[in-house]
Amino acid sequence: MTICCNLCNSHTMHRVADTDSKTGAALGVFLCCNCGLIQQAPLPDEESLEKYYSTLYRIDYKGTRQPKAKHVFRSANQAVARLAFLKRNGLLSGTLLDIGAGSGEFVAMARKKGYAATGIEPNEGYSEYARSEYSAEVVTGKIQEATGQYDVITMFHVLEHLRSPAEAFANLHRLLVPGGSLFIEVPWILSGAISPSNRYFKAHLFYFDAETLASCASSHFEMTDVETSGNLLMLFRAKETPCPMELPPAGYAEKARKKIDAQGWLNYVIHGKGWRKPFARLRHIMDEQRVSGLSGSQILESMQK
Ligand SMILES: [Zn+2]
Repeated sequence: MTICCNLCNSHTMHRVADTDSKTGAALGVFLCCNCGLIQQAPLPDEESLEKYYSTLYRIDYKGTRQPKAKHVFRSANQAVARLAFLKRNGLLSGTLLDIGAGSGEFVAMARKKGYAATGIEPNEGYSEYARSEYSAEVVTGKIQEATGQYDVITMFHVLEHLRSPAEAFANLHRLLVPGGSLFIEVPWILSGAISPSNRYFKAHLFYFDAETLASCASSHFEMTDVETSGNLLMLFRAKETPCPMELPPAGYAEKARKKIDAQGWLNYVIHGKGWRKPFARLRHIMDEQRVSGLSGSQILESMQK
């Protein structure tokens, strides 16, 4: 099998994982020694991906077809942080499309903050929940079916699931007004704070750092803000005219490779503050118990006070 980097077409790839962190099933994940992009190989074909996402994905990962109170609570907490990120960047209003809107907490809360917010979500159960629980304008549909033009597009934990990040950015550019803003959040592969047992997944086709994400976007977008924690948050502005893609700087791939190779349990527990995780988990469980039995709308209301 010849493995080819999706970003720079190099064949010099370094294996970084051979199993799915969750299921233990065989999985090939490689770092490109030329540009530093990390990707699954071989990539699954479009048809099998589509089948997986339309029905199985939510069940696999969350054990449910519609969100439970604890899922709503987590999404609402994330929505608060994401809206704060937009606010810090001076993005306070306008038309907004959330791609991969899930059960609609972000769309519902963004609307309350003053955005004309809508969403698109392929999962039937979740998009139906967004409409019935929050009266949120979330249509059921594949992300390729998004239409219209928006001031702001948000896409949280979607890009890592797509077969061609560069193609996704070209499509996103078409959905934005000139100079429009794109807010992307993906897992941050170089984070020390992710447990080694929670890093590589069959559902994740690409694994990004700021350099590789900026590069995938570079034909159509310039990066205007970046934040890292366990996740990578990046804000982009649409370029007026597409230009040739820029690869990460020379030496980046080697640096990324060293960081990846150093990511073990010891590094996670000490430098990634993994020793704190059981305490944080306990706090989450207590918070989640507090909201169990509340409806999604009640949870959102309690957080917006
Ligand atoms: Zn490459």
